[in-house]
Amino acid sequence: MDEAIESLRKEALAALEACRDPAALSEFRVAYLGRNGAVKGLLGRLSELPPEERPAFGRDANLLKRELEEAFAAREKEMGGSGGGDADAVDITIPGRRLPRGHFHPVSLVMDEICGTFSAMGFEIAEGPDVETDFYNFEALNIPAHHPARDMHDTFYVSESILLRTHTSPMQVRAMEERKPPLRMIAPGKVYRCDSDVTHTPMFHQVEGFLVDESVSFADLKGVLSLFITRTFSPDTPIRFRPSFFPFTEPSAEVDIGCVICGGGGCRVCKQTGWLEILGAGMIDPEVFRSVGYDPEEVSGFAFGLGVERIAMLKYGINDLRLFYENDRRFIEQF
Ligand SMILES: [Zn+2]
Repeated sequence: MDEAIESLRKEALAALEACRDPAALSEFRVAYLGRNGAVKGLLGRLSELPPEERPAFGRDANLLKRELEEAFAAREKEMGGSGGGDADAVDITIPGRRLPRGHFHPVSLVMDEICGTFSAMGFEIAEGPDVETDFYNFEALNIPAHHPARDMHDTFYVSESILLRTHTSPMQVRAMEERKPPLRMIAPGKVYRCDSDVTHTPMFHQVEGFLVDESVSFADLKGVLSLFITRTFSPDTPIRFRPSFFPFTEPSAEVDIGCVICGGGGCRVCKQTGWLEILGAGMIDPEVFRSVGYDPEEVSGFAFGLGVERIAMLKYGINDLRLFYENDRRFIEQF
């Protein structure tokens, strides 16, 4: 055997024998078996040797490597741990690792709050399928094929008659089909529109609600929605009802609140108007009643719909809709 190999062997075995703790073992491994260790250094010298001596030297160097690895493993086992740390010694004074605390998503928080407010006013909560038929999403809500209002919805179609609901209003139809008035119900859930930019995401959350009974008037609508708004924002929030158009309500209104950012003075968020639109509402159209088999001469009612993300943005002063869906923990942890 080559002299250099033999002397390294003796030196290494002696050094291993001298190891008294895991730290020393670890040092040994680096010094002799590591990537820049002594054994690697030996093999590196192969090229300096005359060609006829190389095979024997290479073989012996590899045998030494294996021998030292085995001796190292045996010594490590003897000491009862890995070279990297003392596994036997547990420092019970070290504080435990804390699991990160979970947080509710702001959309969930606002959704729960909205549901709570309407529940307190006697509304039931109903959830329906995300995948809807054209009939429930459009036809029964007085939006026949080729109605211009369909363009506003940018619908994701699954097939010609199946689609991802563009609003949670189909629940209104499903509930009225199955039951007789009086009905008070809200339908929270995800809705889908083929649209994506700073103020639109392809999926967002809506709460749609309705109330049907005998002689329900626009005053009832105003009362319920005003109470909802003052509960959600503050008791002195300015509220404004503006005439509007929806195919499934007549008359229809859009509801604005005094800008929560500037307090009504005018800013970028409210486009200098001092007002922010937060929901759409109206008296349920007689056509909708007919499509579910109610007699519009006997019953009346109102319906409304609101975007949950929009309310969350206004409540918490969030300025970019996309923050809701980036799953950045630094964002979620603030709630
Ligand atoms: Zn403003």
